[in-house]
Amino acid sequence: MENENNLAPIVWFCGLSGAGKTTLAVEVYKMLSAEGIVSVILDADKVRKAINNDLGYSESDRMENIRRAAGIANLLSNEGIITLNAYITPTHKMQELARNIAGIGKFILIYINAPLAVCEKRDTKGLYMQARLGKITEFTGVSAPFETPLAYDLELKTDSESVETCAKKIVALIKEKINYRNSD
Ligand code: ADP
Repeated sequence: MENENNLAPIVWFCGLSGAGKTTLAVEVYKMLSAEGIVSVILDADKVRKAINNDLGYSESDRMENIRRAAGIANLLSNEGIITLNAYITPTHKMQELARNIAGIGKFILIYINAPLAVCEKRDTKGLYMQARLGKITEFTGVSAPFETPLAYDLELKTDSESVETCAKKIVALIKEKINYRNSD
């Protein structure tokens, strides 16, 4: 049953493809694990493959992708499980939707900020190249918009800060949230 004191943080990593969402989610997961704190990574690629494989990348499909993703995170949060959610979440509408479903008080929006040129140079999955060649359409940053979040809990500039520094900042924020709740 939903219990106010048992609402685990929903950590939401938002940013361009290649900005560092997955890398940081994994690093945060490891850091939390080392302290005996259980969390679950929900990564867009895996969630799309496992559950949202009926969705594409149109605006309405992306909205539905986020709606379901936030719903899953919310269910887990209600059971006391911290989730580390890595989704581009490109538009203000999608960012708001995630926040509204997750609920104020447990939603932590982390804006993973790396310039498009840096993400494109990293091209970790080779997707920017394909998008530039027109082989992928509606690709965020190239042929679909990315709107910088209007409100976020933390901004991390992954082009100038190390993975470790960024992850430590996120862990500190999560622990602040947990401790705040425990001291109610
Ligand atoms: P996303 O999940 O946002 O698509 P990835 O995590 O797959 O991005 O890729 C990010 C790339 O950037 C990785 O190759 C990672 O090693 C590199 N990188 C460099 N600095 C950072 C940092 N501070 N935080 C996260 N990733 C970083």
